[in-house]
Amino acid sequence: MTAVADVMDYAEVVESYDPVLGLEVHVELNTKTKMFCGCPNQFGGEPNTHVCPTCLGLPGALPVVNGKAVESAIRIGLALNCEIAEWCRFARKNYFYPDMPKNFQTSQYDEPIAFNGYLDVVLDDGEVVRVGIERAHMEEDTGKSLHVGGSTGRIHGAEHSLLDYNRAGVPLIEIVTKPIVGMGARAPEVARAYVTALRDLLRAMDVSDVRMDQGSLRCDANVSLMPKGATEFGTRTETKNVNSLRSVERAVRYEMTRQAAVLASGGSVTQETRHFQEADGTTSPGRVKETAEDYRYFPEPDLVPIAPSREWVEELRKTLPELPWERRKRIKEEWNLTDEELRDLINTGAEQLVAATVEAGAKPNEARSWWVQYLTQQANTREVELAELPITPAQVARVIELVNSGELTNKLAREVVQGVLAGEGEPDEVVEKRGLKVVSDDSALIAAVDEALAAQPDVADKIRGGKVQAAGAIVGAVMKATKGQADAKRVRELVLERVGA
Ligand code: ADP
Ligand code: MG
Ligand code: ZN
Repeated sequence: MTAVADVMDYAEVVESYDPVLGLEVHVELNTKTKMFCGCPNQFGGEPNTHVCPTCLGLPGALPVVNGKAVESAIRIGLALNCEIAEWCRFARKNYFYPDMPKNFQTSQYDEPIAFNGYLDVVLDDGEVVRVGIERAHMEEDTGKSLHVGGSTGRIHGAEHSLLDYNRAGVPLIEIVTKPIVGMGARAPEVARAYVTALRDLLRAMDVSDVRMDQGSLRCDANVSLMPKGATEFGTRTETKNVNSLRSVERAVRYEMTRQAAVLASGGSVTQETRHFQEADGTTSPGRVKETAEDYRYFPEPDLVPIAPSREWVEELRKTLPELPWERRKRIKEEWNLTDEELRDLINTGAEQLVAATVEAGAKPNEARSWWVQYLTQQANTREVELAELPITPAQVARVIELVNSGELTNKLAREVVQGVLAGEGEPDEVVEKRGLKVVSDDSALIAAVDEALAAQPDVADKIRGGKVQAAGAIVGAVMKATKGQADAKRVRELVLERVGA
């Protein structure tokens, strides 16, 4: 039944159509407790152990707003250059689905706590795009359902479903962009760059774990196309819960090629939610989109309105940390980076890792070269984000220290890093276990040098006769004999010494 979807060549798409994007990002806040009750806000745990009458929606249980979550919401709004509502309320979003036993989700509707802001986003080539923020509102997360027995993991065709309410009631902020227009062929890149910038910002503010793989940051991508020159937006689809930065870009790109094929063949795009398939990078239809009326929103009668005083808002503004773009400016100066070096640092996602490595004692240039080059290659081959590599800045700093003290050559250092990545322990343990110390004992090196000279007497004669470049062959032989564990510079000195050159 899964026919290969008809798509249009990307170059052709952007020649004939203008894409419009809208990104909805859900962020789980890292507060100690849930949004409206005192249950722990913790990822995982035995199913249905972080629950109480309030988050299970039992009759008569009353919610109380988590003040810390409101504080985070306001800080996020301020960091996104939003206006903060003087007065706003929660609303009930009614729907029946077993992941919310109350039969409504407590959310905000037409009175969000923050609205009308923007986020500046840096693209791969350094160009800055200002993405408008429509609103950031507070709500609660739903429980998790696991549909068992079907082939797709969806409710259709399942034999039964398991429900875990540990996540029900976890504080969420939903951040919604204004329509992003005029990006043309770069729309997919802009989508990824926006989610990246937002993730970096939220991480710097320490309001969320922002782990896309664990669902603490989730993105829904709205995409529509309009024929070049048109003034009215086309019908959009909403691709749900795309769970990596790379997938955000792929999902937008795929939707553009799919919708273009539909439109070009005279069809019309159905307004629906869609699911992204990691495996082949396509999207498949979900449900036909509800309209706001379907949810019968009304103000939540069990909660008091939120009326943050202007004094409080200004106090919170003062708690904003150095934001990513400010930090970048400072780092560029402090580490004396060229525009290109700064861009590589940002694009590889290495910024905070390098900063932490410097904090652990390494020089900026050394730390940067490890993260931006070797470790980025390692992350690419493993298809993970740099930050997800199983090595810490402190461990990288230690490897650098071992190189600087002459205990490791660069080549050996890379082997040590491989060992750390393979879970063999701390750098020093890997050196020990794999026997990777530099042979710094001159007597062992001299023996190897003499042996190599004896094996290649003609070369030895050449060096003796003044052809110093010929020493390279002997150095190579010694490096081979010591399995690369010798300091090549010292070996060269010894070669010249032994032939009496
Ligand atoms: P919903 O309730 O359907 O999720 P939201 O208002 O929460 O709607 O989010 C819709 C998102 O889609 C916003 O980011 C909005 O800017 C964007 N959007 C609106 N119209 C279009 C369109 N025609 N094409 C693409 N994006 C759109
Ligand atoms: Mg929405
Ligand atoms: Zn609870």
